[in-house]
Amino acid sequence: MKKLLIVTLLLFSSISLFAQDVLVEAESFDNPGGWLVDPQFVEQMGSPYLNAHGMGKPVKNASTKVNFNKSGSYHIWVRTMNWVPGEWEAPGKFQLKVNEAVLDTVLGTRSGWGWQYAGETKINKKNETHIELVDLTGFNGRCDAIYFSTKKTTPPSSPKKLAAWRQELAAEPNAPEELKTYDLVVVGGGLAGCAAAIAGAEQGLKVALIHDRPVLGGNASEEIRVHTEGIYGNFERILKKIDTKHYPNGSAESKLDQQKRDENVKSYDNIDLFLNWRAYDAISEENSVKYVDARQTFTGERKRFTAPYFVDSTGDGWIGFWAGAEFSYGRESVDTYGEYWEEHGELWSPKEADNAVMGSSVLWGSKDTDSPQSFPEVPWAMPVSKDYAEVNGEWQWEFSRNDLSQIDDAEEIRDHMLRAIYGSFSNAKKDEVNKNRKLEWVSYLVGKRESRRLVGDHIFTFNDAKEGREFPDGVVIEKRAVDVHYQTVLEDEKNPDFISEALFYRGPQYYIPYRSLYSKNISNLFMAGRNFSCSHAGLGGPRVMLTTGQMGAAVGYAASLCKKYEVMPREIYTGYLQEYLDLIEEQKYEKIPTSKK
Ligand SMILES: Cc1cc2nc3c(=O)[nH]c(=O)nc-3n(C[C@H](O)[C@H](O)[C@H](O)COP(=O)(O)OP(=O)(O)OC[C@H]3O[C@@H](n4cnc5c(N)ncnc54)[C@H](O)[C@@H]3O)c2cc1C
Repeated sequence: MKKLLIVTLLLFSSISLFAQDVLVEAESFDNPGGWLVDPQFVEQMGSPYLNAHGMGKPVKNASTKVNFNKSGSYHIWVRTMNWVPGEWEAPGKFQLKVNEAVLDTVLGTRSGWGWQYAGETKINKKNETHIELVDLTGFNGRCDAIYFSTKKTTPPSSPKKLAAWRQELAAEPNAPEELKTYDLVVVGGGLAGCAAAIAGAEQGLKVALIHDRPVLGGNASEEIRVHTEGIYGNFERILKKIDTKHYPNGSAESKLDQQKRDENVKSYDNIDLFLNWRAYDAISEENSVKYVDARQTFTGERKRFTAPYFVDSTGDGWIGFWAGAEFSYGRESVDTYGEYWEEHGELWSPKEADNAVMGSSVLWGSKDTDSPQSFPEVPWAMPVSKDYAEVNGEWQWEFSRNDLSQIDDAEEIRDHMLRAIYGSFSNAKKDEVNKNRKLEWVSYLVGKRESRRLVGDHIFTFNDAKEGREFPDGVVIEKRAVDVHYQTVLEDEKNPDFISEALFYRGPQYYIPYRSLYSKNISNLFMAGRNFSCSHAGLGGPRVMLTTGQMGAAVGYAASLCKKYEVMPREIYTGYLQEYLDLIEEQKYEKIPTSKK
């Protein structure tokens, strides 16, 4: 179903009778040209949108065709935003072309997401109407939707009203019509989600893997380009199918392992892979998840996924959040778990709990060329970058602030990083030595480190790592140092606020118990990845991707035993622990039957 809605407005009490309305969702354009579909902030701004991520060079026009039911004069609104309002021209400007005419109005110039009036145009219903988005800057212009109406009534803006209006316009029933049934539904295809799907599938489960990107791997993907660190623990065979080499963060070498990962996951007949599908709700009854609802990010098509067991590997703990799982966010007070480290005092663990978390990053890089390369002036970026000059960005390019949520304010955080990058590169270009430098790659996806942590039967803490505590159900093993980040601006306010520092604690090998991998209060929900059950300081070590991958594999095996005995995740610990540990041990040596691959 294409998200292009044409309605004669007899149905709508809120808008005049006999008006003709057409809503064109930008992400559903026939040809996005150089614009990218950006679904990262759907929960905050309401929809995937088209993003003109040209790194300073205007991108190719996006285009689509529309058939109108009625000829006449139409008013046009475009849902867009100026992502850096201020004393300068908006960075992300664009125009709308309807048939052969480019409308005069420059779009992308209103503060905050909302409808910008674009003008009026004549439509002849006999001809197909061609619409194009004409990018003017290459600096992340945004178009969510285009609305044509014969009446000049601005569509609703508040998130709730807008969602209801869209739903009414699409005549979309409350629940998705198509129901898919599986043994295990895994949401989020980072390393953790991929490993959970593989382990479950190898044990014969019918698995759905729902992932909102076109490629798998989350932060390890070629889209974000973080290399995988940590050890394989008990799950070397599985993790080698999806890991990466140790290339420098941000390196194009990440592409080399992308194909391996995608092909290996696709090779399992009993994994149904839903790429470009984003889960948007989870419905629970009596503390058990019944369904996960998901939407195709381009077309808007919806499906409902049901299963006896679910894995939340979204990083942000979305499934748990929607289902009503207990979760935490921010730093615990030092007394909560006794996570004291004298050397770093408050920076490590505060007296009072607060909202501080490790920040999110946007990786980027430039390259030297044989000829001079220009880069536009970016006055809107300078308040963030100030006089900082750089030509490449590593993991330290990171942003967090206690008044910003890494979930609710993720678009602002991503945009802050874009300003830091474009401004710092522009500063570097002023140096003669960089005259041939070309901005090669800037991710538009925000790489996250920490947000919601779902609460399980055991909360893994820094002390568990520091003391190398052994647990009867210690299924994940890690040796890598614990590292927790802070923004360098906290030490000296003259430091840029987009650069972080890491505090490393090198301790013994440590173990994560199975009890940290299922929800305390949602009986059929597993979690794997950075949203597993841990404290803020406890996350410092296990957040790396081979450790999160181990978590995924561990829950995949647990799910297969849950199915075998028709029990809930907790009962694997209370009643079937030895069999579970034996299963993990056996899979290290036993050849997986080809029927299960
Ligand atoms: C710059 C940077 C440097 C780092 N350095 C390292 C390093 O060197 N080595 C290392 O191993 N780790 C490193 N980390 C940490 C590591 O990348 C993360 O902790 C890890 O990726 C978390 O894994 P995950 O599977 O939980 O989440 P992710 O890797 O974020 O995967 C979750 C995936 O789920 C998808 N998703 C989210 N919500 C939904 C939804 N509703 N529906 C469908 N899909 C959804 C997301 O698109 C995402 O791709 C770094 C992180 C950053 C940002």
